[in-house]
Amino acid sequence: MEATDHLKASLSAAIALANTFGSDPRQGRPATTPDAEAVSAALRLTTNRVPEIDVADYAAGAKILYDALRRLPDVDGAADLVNGLLRETKAAPQLVRRDGAPWHLHFGSPDEAAGWLAELATAVAMLLGSDEVERLRRCEATRCEDVFLDSTRNRTQRFCSTACQNRTKVAAHRARVS
Ligand SMILES: [Zn+2]
Repeated sequence: MEATDHLKASLSAAIALANTFGSDPRQGRPATTPDAEAVSAALRLTTNRVPEIDVADYAAGAKILYDALRRLPDVDGAADLVNGLLRETKAAPQLVRRDGAPWHLHFGSPDEAAGWLAELATAVAMLLGSDEVERLRRCEATRCEDVFLDSTRNRTQRFCSTACQNRTKVAAHRARVS
């Protein structure tokens, strides 16, 4: 995995974790209470080595990430929140090597929630500090509070998922024919 790919993966994980704890409703449905499986699913976007999860350890940091991402395009407000999380998690880059795997950049212990939150906060911080910040969007569908990264070349993505896109299309069609 290239360095920039790893960063992208960490950013995807940060957005997934943020939505898991902050977004409600999601894709037309009331959010479910985050469980260990939901946290693992987010972390698996960046690694196969997911640690033992205690959901409570992730809740506060994930909510900060969500609040920061929801503040955009207010980058100043988002930066304040992310800086706070970087301080709190003592994010410090460290090359880590385990079990003969290649050296790998971490921003805290990968075995602890704080280490994960440090890494995800770093990925969001790098987004905030780049032109790519404009790609972070709020889903435009009704009954969905998710944020997502617009992956289209011409930056026209309006919905977090095909589920939200289809729901919106169906609603628009119904409005036309009624
Ligand atoms: Zn959505």
